[in-house]
Amino acid sequence: MSDCLFCKIAAGEVPSGKVYEDERVYAFRDIDPQAPVHFLVIPKEHIGSCGEITPDNAHVVASCFTAIAQATREMGVTDFRVVSNCGAKAGQSVPHLHFHVLAGRDMSWPPG
Ligand code: 5GP
Ligand code: ZN
Repeated sequence: MSDCLFCKIAAGEVPSGKVYEDERVYAFRDIDPQAPVHFLVIPKEHIGSCGEITPDNAHVVASCFTAIAQATREMGVTDFRVVSNCGAKAGQSVPHLHFHVLAGRDMSWPPG
């Protein structure tokens, strides 16, 4: 999608701190980290949110979670939280599917 920030980041048109990349997935450090480790994992294909997953595009979710496992393993991170906000009321501010990966501090539950 031409005016989507995360599509531009995945395409390298907007600079970011890459932590992982393969043919389907791009991962990069969050610009406003909420934990000592905080990166975002996105499909290169534009999907608006978790609410737009279908049988036809669901394979990208598996690719994102494979990327999360590989990136955390490479960082030596064993305890982490994965979050995907879906919709403005749930805290989504960028309308391109993304998974937050947070680590490096104790996490509280439930989230706010
Ligand atoms: P959301 O609020 O949609 O769940 O998550 C969007 C995340 O994207 C936020 O944590 C925000 O800090 C991050 N973000 C927004 N713009 C940029 C950017 O230009 N670069 C990077 N690296 N992160 C961004
Ligand atoms: Zn996009």
